[in-house]
Amino acid sequence: MLKTDESEKLYERSCKSLATGVSTAFRRNVTPNPLYMERGDGPYFYDADGQELLDYGLGWGPLIVGNNHPRLNAAVADQLSRAYTFGYQHRGEIELAERMCEVLPGVDRVIYSNTGTEAVQSALRVARAYTGRNKILKFEGHYHGWLNNMLVSVHPSEDQLGRTSPTCGGQPEEEYSLTVTVPWNDLNAARRAFSEHRGEIGTMITEAILINSGSCLPDDGYLEGLLDLCRENGAVSIFDEVITGFRIALGGAREYYGLRPDLSIYAKAIAGGFSMSAVGGDAEILGVLEDGRTTHAGTYNGNPICTAAAKATLDILSEPGTYDRMHAHGNALREAIETSADENGIQLVTTGVGTAFSVHIGLSEMPRNWRDVMKADGTQYDKFRAAMRDRHILCLPEGRWYIGATHSEKELEKAIQAIREGMQEIART
Ligand code: PMP
Repeated sequence: MLKTDESEKLYERSCKSLATGVSTAFRRNVTPNPLYMERGDGPYFYDADGQELLDYGLGWGPLIVGNNHPRLNAAVADQLSRAYTFGYQHRGEIELAERMCEVLPGVDRVIYSNTGTEAVQSALRVARAYTGRNKILKFEGHYHGWLNNMLVSVHPSEDQLGRTSPTCGGQPEEEYSLTVTVPWNDLNAARRAFSEHRGEIGTMITEAILINSGSCLPDDGYLEGLLDLCRENGAVSIFDEVITGFRIALGGAREYYGLRPDLSIYAKAIAGGFSMSAVGGDAEILGVLEDGRTTHAGTYNGNPICTAAAKATLDILSEPGTYDRMHAHGNALREAIETSADENGIQLVTTGVGTAFSVHIGLSEMPRNWRDVMKADGTQYDKFRAAMRDRHILCLPEGRWYIGATHSEKELEKAIQAIREGMQEIART
């Protein structure tokens, strides 16, 4: 079982000074209560109750080379001894930009920021400045950060489907009225949006794999179709690769699917746990920042600690066989989940790729978008996740699992054993 006495005490104390008790809404309202971590090493966390926990959430994605990685530590420590930040230019930002242009197919310029949310907004502004059009095409179930123009139709309820719907209070309609939302994996829906808003949609933004809603894969030809639609309609195409970037392949979806959107957004895995994001893409489009049509700013953009962390992370990930090993680990977990479910009479499917996949209890067919994903049995999955947690294995809510470079055979064995027991346990309840 998982002990939570100390975590409970800390949460109670936190609520008295930190509004909501936690630092992001995603860590609130969790069961049994927010867990407090003391340190991390490789794929393990050590919590306030003194337990070792095998982690498949990777800090929601960034910890692709685990915590306490000797080479990442050395790179950051070396930079720490030289400077925290400059507010001037430095070699590290050039070296990282050169490396990104080398490993991300079709990327010939990058810009830096600090979080995925920020990079999304930079990309949207660049696209709008380039096309002179203000409307943005977005898809149901996709998450592109917490700002008002994008925090819409993220996980819409039945009655919110088919229109752009805000997620929380404090989102005035004026701030999302330029966002047009349609279902994903439905090329006709996107085509209709372009014709209904003829000459007004200048930007299309999509996750390349719908990780934020059940890791749905794009249908064959769907992403290509979207890129064609954008070209036909003079819109800038953006892949939000905050999760897929450096995770599904070193070159992200550009490499994995062989596609070339105009712009791509990177964050999370790029710097191995340090706060860093970037937009990469076409030199002509990013040229709007050079010819004065628009601007981009930020005190911490390209700061030397984060560029050092990113360079080291990309070096570690570039080692031969890294992605094959990570995908194989994830695929073995998926197989164990599917087989154990089958043996225990539990209906489920898993979707996604080896390094980022989701489990959908209660579904018999691969979900293709949010409308399919919302039919899964979330309550039963929560029970499975709790059973895993009781065996000291952490995975994310809504069925999501991330695999990193430090998940080895030893962890696989532990996880598979826990999966078998966990499935037996939920089959009994
Ligand atoms: N885009 C996608 C696809 C994401 O998954 C996220 C975060 N989960 C963001 C943007 C926002 O990134 P951040 O939390 O770093 O602001």
